[in-house]
Amino acid sequence: MLLFIAPLISVAQQDDILPPVVSWKGKSLELVARKDNPWITPTEKSDFITTPTYVETMAWFNKLCDASDVLTMVTVGQSANARSINMVIASLDGNIEPDALLNSSKPILLVHAGIHSGEIDGNTAGMMLLRDIAFGKKRSLLDKVNLLFIPILSVDAHERSSPYNRPNQRGPANMGWRTNARNLNLNRDYSKLDTEEVRTVVQIMNDYHPSFYVDLHVTDGADYQYDITYGASDYSRSISKWLTKTFNPEMDNALKTHGHIPGPLIFAANERDFTQGKADFPYMPRFSTSYGDIRRIPSILVENHSLKPFKQRVLGTYVFLEALMQITGKESVSLKKAIHDDTALRNKDVVLTWKNAEQPEMVEFLGIESTLKPSAVTSSDYVVWTGKTITQNIPYFRINRPGLSVKRPKAYWVPATYKDVIGRLAIHGIAMEKITEPKTVEVTMYRLQNPKIANEPFEGHFLVSTGLAPEKHTETYYPGAVRISTDQDLGDLLIYLLEPQSPDSFLAWGFFAEIFSRTEYIEEYAIEPLARQMLSKDIKLAAEFELKKKQDPDFINDKAAVYKWFYERSPYYDNRYLLYPVGREE
Ligand SMILES: [Zn+2]
Repeated sequence: MLLFIAPLISVAQQDDILPPVVSWKGKSLELVARKDNPWITPTEKSDFITTPTYVETMAWFNKLCDASDVLTMVTVGQSANARSINMVIASLDGNIEPDALLNSSKPILLVHAGIHSGEIDGNTAGMMLLRDIAFGKKRSLLDKVNLLFIPILSVDAHERSSPYNRPNQRGPANMGWRTNARNLNLNRDYSKLDTEEVRTVVQIMNDYHPSFYVDLHVTDGADYQYDITYGASDYSRSISKWLTKTFNPEMDNALKTHGHIPGPLIFAANERDFTQGKADFPYMPRFSTSYGDIRRIPSILVENHSLKPFKQRVLGTYVFLEALMQITGKESVSLKKAIHDDTALRNKDVVLTWKNAEQPEMVEFLGIESTLKPSAVTSSDYVVWTGKTITQNIPYFRINRPGLSVKRPKAYWVPATYKDVIGRLAIHGIAMEKITEPKTVEVTMYRLQNPKIANEPFEGHFLVSTGLAPEKHTETYYPGAVRISTDQDLGDLLIYLLEPQSPDSFLAWGFFAEIFSRTEYIEEYAIEPLARQMLSKDIKLAAEFELKKKQDPDFINDKAAVYKWFYERSPYYDNRYLLYPVGREE
């Protein structure tokens, strides 16, 4: 057995390979606990060099929650390796049961850190803030909101700790791994729900109906001045407007007041050169905050900039979380109205894919200068970030034009044979009626046209893309089948999961792979006389055959193709082949 013991890399050593750090001193430094504070966090104790392990984190929170009358820690799920996924509930209300919290007029905020465990700033920021709520001067933050905080979501990955897990990130010295114990990226799992961790988050959404959802990350990629970047998708328009008009200006203000440089989420069109602009991320509910959005929960993705020092990032996250509680508490009436307006929508047409805007907008960008230098180890050049701050005007390529859309059906019918899909829809919290007697229904079904299956797996699945032809069918469904109305709050999510052309549908994720196989066939001795019979009895078919031969001269030389042509047109052919088994009740 080969045993490799990694030497602990020092932060200074890691700094050797990273671009120069821009010096920073912000008011938020005052948030760091004094060394004699009995509730100092492990990260503060280490001067922001390390982050606590899973066991240390939970022990610290257990002690804090035991000592506080406003904090309770509950176990909300189990990881694949049987570690508890724990959540701290911060509330002035004595009863922390979901129903009791929901009866309160206070918004419930759901925040998790460590969905990508190496990006762990949120854990320490949450520890510091909850400490200050319990034993500092910040108890009043709970006057108007209740907070649900998961310190580490990807608990197994957090324990796959190493100084070498995130080479592009400036600390801490020990970082967890990006994917979970099955090597699945939790932030691609919100539609398909393969992982215990994301199922846990979805269960919390079903139980507590949060009025706000925050997913805390750290970026990779290019250099720029912003330290705390954040943003939302804009599927739910009233919520999006509320975020843009009410939330973002106040949040930016809070961060700036504390010495941080807030910015929007940044995806460079070219990682080496920001003058080529930045782009949107396409909308897909496989991502945490896009999923929250389609569930009509205001949802913010926070991406701290990986090249900023760990301490600066943690303090910025603290300011973000504190301001989140203040803003949502102060603006709870307008927040709830925006949620209500979007939740009530039952759009006749639902957009499944989005296209680029025709023209980019020009936006101001707080950049860092970059140059290209000849590489010593390749024959090419490489990008060097100089550390010099520059303000640029760059094009911003929005992805905001509707692409493909579908008419909202009254309901979907899923046969009893697809128990796994029905089970996953139930985990999403989608309401459905299970039938107990056979039922015959008029439905529209899709026949797949030229489906393509990916050659390589993505997130454990072979993705499928396909054309579709709708067909009218009279279908009989058997006990255990479900009728799922689209007239429900999660109706749009349902449509995204069951319309095959949605990139996040169960079909696209490969859940209906059975229908790609043709299982019956016809022997040569049987098809030859059958073909002759078909030609003599069906004049139209005979004309079609002549036309086919004329248009495709090689056709007649391909015996298998000719027999297939007849077989497909015969009553012996499998009429369920490539038929997507989910029915649309129009
Ligand atoms: Zn991340």
